[in-house]
Amino acid sequence: MEDSANSNAAQDAPSSAGAASIAFKAETRQLLDILIHSLYTEREIFLRELISNASDALTRLDFEMLTNRDVLNPDARLEIRLIPDAEANTLTIRDSGVGMTAEEMIANLGTIAHSGAREFVQAARQGGKNVADLIGQFGVGFYSVFMVAEWVRVISRSYRKDAQAAAWFCTGADTFSVEPAEKAERGTDVIIKLKDDAKEFLQEARLREIVRKHSDFVPFPIFIGQQEEQANRQTALWRQSPREVEKKDYEDFYKQLTLDFEPPLAYAHMVVDAPVQMYALLFVPASPERSLFSLRKEDGLKLYARKVLIQEYNRDLLPEYLSFVQGVVDSEDLPLNVSRESIQSTRVMVNLKKLVTSKVIDTLKKLAEEDAEKYNRFWQAYARYIKQGVAIEPNEPESLYPLLRFRTTDHPDQWSSLEDYLKSMKPEQKHIYYLLGDDERSVLYSPHLDIVRRYGYPVLLLTDPVDAFMLARLTKYKDFPLVNVANADLPAPEADTKEGDQQQAGVDAAGQSSLVERFKAQLGERVADVRMTERLSDSPARLVDPAGAPNQELQRVYRLLNKDFTPPKKVLELNPRHAILVRLNNMPPEDPLGPLVIEQIYENALLIEGLHPDPASMISRIQKIMEAALV
Ligand code: ADP
Repeated sequence: MEDSANSNAAQDAPSSAGAASIAFKAETRQLLDILIHSLYTEREIFLRELISNASDALTRLDFEMLTNRDVLNPDARLEIRLIPDAEANTLTIRDSGVGMTAEEMIANLGTIAHSGAREFVQAARQGGKNVADLIGQFGVGFYSVFMVAEWVRVISRSYRKDAQAAAWFCTGADTFSVEPAEKAERGTDVIIKLKDDAKEFLQEARLREIVRKHSDFVPFPIFIGQQEEQANRQTALWRQSPREVEKKDYEDFYKQLTLDFEPPLAYAHMVVDAPVQMYALLFVPASPERSLFSLRKEDGLKLYARKVLIQEYNRDLLPEYLSFVQGVVDSEDLPLNVSRESIQSTRVMVNLKKLVTSKVIDTLKKLAEEDAEKYNRFWQAYARYIKQGVAIEPNEPESLYPLLRFRTTDHPDQWSSLEDYLKSMKPEQKHIYYLLGDDERSVLYSPHLDIVRRYGYPVLLLTDPVDAFMLARLTKYKDFPLVNVANADLPAPEADTKEGDQQQAGVDAAGQSSLVERFKAQLGERVADVRMTERLSDSPARLVDPAGAPNQELQRVYRLLNKDFTPPKKVLELNPRHAILVRLNNMPPEDPLGPLVIEQIYENALLIEGLHPDPASMISRIQKIMEAALV
């Protein structure tokens, strides 16, 4: 060990004379440096990382043995054992998993760049977060052992019968060594010489406590010392009867599955016998964004066939728009000799997907009914997923409608369901009205709301880009068609002639046509047309699409898909009863204020439609109009 000649660790290290020393990858060196020098108090997580590696090695063996019984020690029990030795000051983590050959050790424990190491070093370098927190949250893998180790020796023997046992040795310096070793049984021993301040990890009670806290649901038995009493619950929690499992167990399981700090918003436990046999545990995380530190590195559910993990991230059990769901699915009906690639095409999978999908939707419906506050949190985080689902779900998109929530003109600060909307409709109302906009606040000032506001009809306010896609499918709810209030041909409310709706006197017919001509002359090519409308009340004007133009939903879709999309020229509609138009009509045509007001009416209409290219340019005109008003 040339590299560690100046380290007293080397003196009591197992002999490694003759072993060649090999340099670590740069990231690994940096990672080791950070870990060795950190003053992190929860160093115990090194054990979680080593147990997790052991469990992975056992899972891989379990999977291998589905199709291949020709392995070393085929009858060895699949287990993990933690063996403290107070005299030697060592702790050994032993597993009977796949093991490693010398080449695999060199690659896996030294020369392959681990994405985890790189991400960790990057996050640590970026600063902001303190390194201790990063270690706590981040699976830093095997190397976390150097928080407690003076040296580490890994002795391993591969499950492949012809492979030799090998030993890997490292003191945490820049290099490690690998040499042949003696080991009769299949699997891996990670032997840790504990630092003087890490003796607590020799106590069996302490080890038991750590296993309970961090590795309770590891799917293989963990034993401590020579004891035969299992230290972890190990339970395939999903195979238990839901009656026996408590909320806390589900939350603990979720935490150990994901390392997510926040408890899930909702969970479901399925035990199904027909049409396929299955167990499942499904969780809705508090947020759809996986943190850098999540244990789950990709979307997908863990898929077990008869308790054997066959896929870590299966994406065929849920539609894309529910990809945020975490959990485990286990079926007795999946063929065991199936390859990970061919599995998605089996009939069983199709049935499983149906069951899992409808369970997730039902769970969310139940959450909405039972805990509105929590459901609102779900909606804030996942609205886009559900709306996307409405747009793309081939079978029964209607099943998602009860999950939808909207801002409405009646309750712009709350989330209303379509059912809530139906309840707030006027008795004579025959449509569900909506308005598309770019922004939750400004949409409330839209002139398109004038006509419905006159009759007290509520309007759904749709300001999310994905809404336009959703509307392609969501055209009707129960018996009520959805109608855009900005459509020029919106059926005028039948109540138009209702009493009490006093019509103020407006501009007379001759005045109206002369006003229309003045606007046309001034705006020229900028508008498709100018005309009067009876549909406005509080607003002087609005812009609508000319007949034959693609509807607003389509325009939005085009705009999203193609940045260069130019919206069609609009028709300017004027309100002949509005005071501004009445006075404009009364003003001598040569008054210089006239053209300024016409321009401003048009640009205000552009602004409220979200079409104004440069709102600040209006200021000098507005100031001139103010000057005139203050005469
Ligand atoms: P990760 O587990 O995130 O891949 P680690 O640094 O913890 O990163 O481990 C690196 C690799 O070393 C593992 O991917 C695995 O191939 C191998 N390895 C670690 N521990 C064991 C073990 N007990 N048995 C077999 N292989 C192991």
